[in-house]
Amino acid sequence: MEVREIQGHRVPALGFGTFEMEGRSCYDGVREALDLGYRHLDTAQMYGNEEQVGRAIRDSGVPRDEIFLTTKVWYENLAPEAVRRTTEASLRKLAVDTVDLLLIHWPNDRVPLEQTLAAMVELRRQGRTRQVGVSNFTPTLLRQALELAPVFCNQVEYHPFLGQESLVELAREHDLLLTAYSPLARGRVAGDPTLREIGDSHGKTEAQVALRWLVQQPNVAAIPKASTPEHRRANFDIFDFELSAEEMRRIHGLARGQRMIDPSFAPAWES
Ligand code: NAP
Repeated sequence: MEVREIQGHRVPALGFGTFEMEGRSCYDGVREALDLGYRHLDTAQMYGNEEQVGRAIRDSGVPRDEIFLTTKVWYENLAPEAVRRTTEASLRKLAVDTVDLLLIHWPNDRVPLEQTLAAMVELRRQGRTRQVGVSNFTPTLLRQALELAPVFCNQVEYHPFLGQESLVELAREHDLLLTAYSPLARGRVAGDPTLREIGDSHGKTEAQVALRWLVQQPNVAAIPKASTPEHRRANFDIFDFELSAEEMRRIHGLARGQRMIDPSFAPAWES
């Protein structure tokens, strides 16, 4: 497993996403992911599965300190008191003393960012999270956050069909983790002719090529979700080949601004 070194901390470059996995299928998926060797898990208050993720971690027998665990505070819970209350609830559901990374799930301009980040930094001081970060922050919002708190990560949609040049550059400049969500464009990478051609020459699928392209970029981690056991295995099997500079460039060339996740409360992306 390749790791990212961010601000002196190690983060597995490949994680397991759990959006839209609930109940038994979430528990089984996370258990199996941990058995396969995944050591980076992504959940959120909004996913309604923190209990299952926590139980799977406990039952797996994998020591807690070997797993990089992220959860996210929902955008309606960003007032300081709600940050504290809902994070404590997340920790109770996950049945852990601390998470590795606590993120603002989406920006919310109705709550001053400095108040939210101050509450998160206080939780960090209390040992309830090791790092604080943001998600779905545009370059402008990220710069604001960086002036207010020691941000560790920005988690954003990133895959071959959606370029993130400015955010990747900012991540490098400030030694931040850029976690790529929906790294498979929610499954749409399958069938892309360029990814298929490159994959064929390495004996890999389009999805494996997309993930390899992400984890081959400095500061970038990817968190594919897979409810299918074969997909979970395939997504982990990307550390035995390398894309050439020319192949990396060709994949960068597929960017066409295609966003898979764009809710009504999303920020103005071009800001
Ligand atoms: P994704 O990981 O890009 O795609 C998941 C889809 O791809 C599923 O339909 C899955 O099918 C399919 N798939 C998985 N592996 C495959 C493979 N090897 N070949 C072909 N198809 C494959 O999309 P996502 O779930 O939106 O994003 C991943 C994670 O990012 C989420 O689970 C969540 O943790 C995080 N996320 C965060 C935010 C945020 O706002 N911060 C937003 C969205 C997502 P099966 O399930 O049938 O295997």
